[in-house]
Amino acid sequence: MRYSQYLLPTLKEVPSEAEVPSHQLMLRAGMIRKLASGVYSYLPLGLRSIRKVETIIREEMNRSGAIEVLLPIVLPAELWQETHRWEEYGKELLRFKDRHNRDYCMGPTQEEVITDIARREIRSYRQIPLNLFQIQTKFRDEIRPRFGVMRAREFIMKDGYSFDVDGKNADESYQKMYEAYSRVFARCGLKFKVVEAESGLIGGHFSHEFMVLAETGEETIVSCTHCAYAANIEKAEFKRSERTSWSNDPNLFKPLQKTLTPNQRTVEEVTQFLTVLSKDLVKTLIFESDKGCVAALVRGDHEINEKKLKAFLATENLQLASEETVEEITHAPKGFAGPLGLSIPILADLDIQSMTNFVTGANEKDAHLLHVNIGRDFHISQFVDLRKFTQGDLCPLCGGEMRWDRGIEVGHIFKLGTKYSNAMGATYLDEQGKEKMMVMGTYGIGVGRTVAAAIEQSYDQNGIIFPMPIAPFQVLLLPVNIKIDLLKETAEQLHQTLLANGVEVLYDDREETPGVKFKDADLIGIPLRVTLGEKNLKKGLVEIKKRRTGEIFLVKQQEVLSKLKEMIDQEMNC
Ligand code: ATP
Ligand code: MG
Repeated sequence: MRYSQYLLPTLKEVPSEAEVPSHQLMLRAGMIRKLASGVYSYLPLGLRSIRKVETIIREEMNRSGAIEVLLPIVLPAELWQETHRWEEYGKELLRFKDRHNRDYCMGPTQEEVITDIARREIRSYRQIPLNLFQIQTKFRDEIRPRFGVMRAREFIMKDGYSFDVDGKNADESYQKMYEAYSRVFARCGLKFKVVEAESGLIGGHFSHEFMVLAETGEETIVSCTHCAYAANIEKAEFKRSERTSWSNDPNLFKPLQKTLTPNQRTVEEVTQFLTVLSKDLVKTLIFESDKGCVAALVRGDHEINEKKLKAFLATENLQLASEETVEEITHAPKGFAGPLGLSIPILADLDIQSMTNFVTGANEKDAHLLHVNIGRDFHISQFVDLRKFTQGDLCPLCGGEMRWDRGIEVGHIFKLGTKYSNAMGATYLDEQGKEKMMVMGTYGIGVGRTVAAAIEQSYDQNGIIFPMPIAPFQVLLLPVNIKIDLLKETAEQLHQTLLANGVEVLYDDREETPGVKFKDADLIGIPLRVTLGEKNLKKGLVEIKKRRTGEIFLVKQQEVLSKLKEMIDQEMNC
């Protein structure tokens, strides 16, 4: 490919809208351009990288026995109503009407569509296991699109779905995907960790996320320094202290006491004002959901984990109640809520079981209560694991110390069980001719996010450093001055030789200064740069530079092809 005839609009300035390096660099290297919030075009260089990731995914999916399909993006509401996700999915689902006033949505994920195919086309146990995948555009009306294609609204996803006769077989399909995904990300040249994404200890590891380690990652992952336990912090379990079982002794209860706390609302304000420790205070948070309001109690020094609460309530729609709702329920302004006298269900984190004589809001403006005790002063509807993993928490498996990392979720595998087959009647006939539910799994990879994550993990102050397997080109051919005949002729010849031998080469044939060319070369991050300079060429030598290490190799002109092939092979397999 000739640079002069390519569309590769690099930018000198760092675009102000881009917060993270991968977003800045993808814009600067002319890989992507924004069309609307969270909606991006891939320019040629970006698309080449995308295609590389897709090819790796296809190869690994084929290897694992999965079969490619292509499903529609525009989905009729009826399918989504069957599983109730039409109502439950929330605002990320972009809904619209056609000219006949029928409801549709843009597919954010495709369980309904694939289950519809399965229920129509699969009759017998002989037709399964079946694992169908596609690489397709998805749309999610994300509340905060950001970081370019990393969290976009329109994005390319590989999604796959497995159908099995029973749980055991479904586990095998899951395991195959676990391995295939691990190979995909390893082959993309990424450093990643596989973490539990659901409280898997009890549930039996039914969801894993593939996390690329990078400082700017939106996710926090915790992993044990002693054993193999690793989890998304939002789902991380931890060793509960021995004292978390019910241990309150009424003999130790002190008399309940109301105290004035004018304008003291936050945990910090109240604990300072009352000179108590935050671990001796209980926060009362009122949540609204489609299942009504609940109060959630966590210790003052702990954070509520909304995902856990959502999972417990089995709802997708959950938010902190508005100030008006809080006032209606507690008869006090926000900041003074407490559990006494509430008429809504009260859920409390497990760590609250062992607390006695604690501080809570008084459900009265400018007042808190001291020496509150469960059982005597109020009742808990249920104790549940509600809090976030926090500094100092230990491994739930071995009690070992945990380390914290930032990560980007590039892939997600999930055992679905019969949730969708039940809702949509996806059954098959077993050997005895009995009708049974298919057992499903769902698997996704963010293709654009994988490219962005690779850049996030691999760049320097001059630009991108592409891992060879997903680099848009393997080699950049750069004659420092195209106006010098010797350089031009050699470059043209070498360009043809490389093309003829299957080397993916971008040939910088522009009449630009060497400075401009070198800067662009570093910015776009092609792994190997072949530089043709007059001095070297007169001696029959050509310079090859590795973008990653900066190492320079002076190679005889006739040996350039074989040296490049060797270096490409090396980097493809690392
Ligand atoms: P997140 O928690 O980051 O929103 P998710 O759990 O909603 O992700 P899945 O539904 O599991 O994501 O989708 C499968 C994969 O699709 C994710 O692992 C991720 O790589 C990719 N993906 C999800 N949302 C986006 C997005 N808004 N932009 C780009 N890629 C995305
Ligand atoms: Mg999401």
